[in-house]
Amino acid sequence: MLMPSLRVSMAVFIAVLVVSACVSRGDVESMSATEFQKMRTEIPVTRDVALLAYVNCVVRDIVAELPEPYRTMNWEVEVFDNDSANAFAMAGGKIGIFVGIFTVAQTNDQFAAVIGHEIAHVTQDHTVERINRAQVTGGVISVTSILVGDQTGLGTAGTQSLLESTAELGLLLPFGRKQESEADLEGLDFMASAGFDPRASIQLWKNMANAAEGAPPEFLSTHPSSDTRIGDLISHMPEALNYYNEAIASGKQPRCQK
Ligand SMILES: [Zn+2]
Repeated sequence: MLMPSLRVSMAVFIAVLVVSACVSRGDVESMSATEFQKMRTEIPVTRDVALLAYVNCVVRDIVAELPEPYRTMNWEVEVFDNDSANAFAMAGGKIGIFVGIFTVAQTNDQFAAVIGHEIAHVTQDHTVERINRAQVTGGVISVTSILVGDQTGLGTAGTQSLLESTAELGLLLPFGRKQESEADLEGLDFMASAGFDPRASIQLWKNMANAAEGAPPEFLSTHPSSDTRIGDLISHMPEALNYYNEAIASGKQPRCQK
């Protein structure tokens, strides 16, 4: 692990400052907006116009189903040209997708499950919760390791230090297990309400687990085990299918094409 100890102590120091300050949602949203903008300029983004249109289409369809204030929030999505099977969400409606996610999210419905999950992290204020939690100090070290580890394939030193500073601010910390489960279940309802088939989420997490057998995508290392996750999704499926059937009956049919 490429981790000079000075950098670790800086991360811990900053995390302690952030924790003791107990930030508000407004603070976190403005930090997120700044960091997201910085990532967009410093990490290569895709120039694939069709792919961008597709990703935005899925996000738009799902956001249309959200309660206020989220439906009219200024959602922003960026697609980073990087092979990691990863995605992230930050407070204030910022979503990042790495193109590598499409190796596991192979259909419209599977990709909608990823987007529903990320949107649910935002609607449930997970970034704010995470930053305000005391265990954040340990989290900074682990996320820094995850983000700058050799397995990420993220190229330049500049990219690494950007991700580190973003992690230090707590904006990209891995969410806790409970938050991941909450995002899974609420995300399922969101995608289903937009007319995406929620049953596809099961195959998505199976694909994730298979992809992890080679080199684990970071997405997995911060998420519940796939067996737990799939079990929980199956338990919640009847409710999600009600939303899905209502959506289909009312003529909602996602038209997003990759
Ligand atoms: Zn998550």
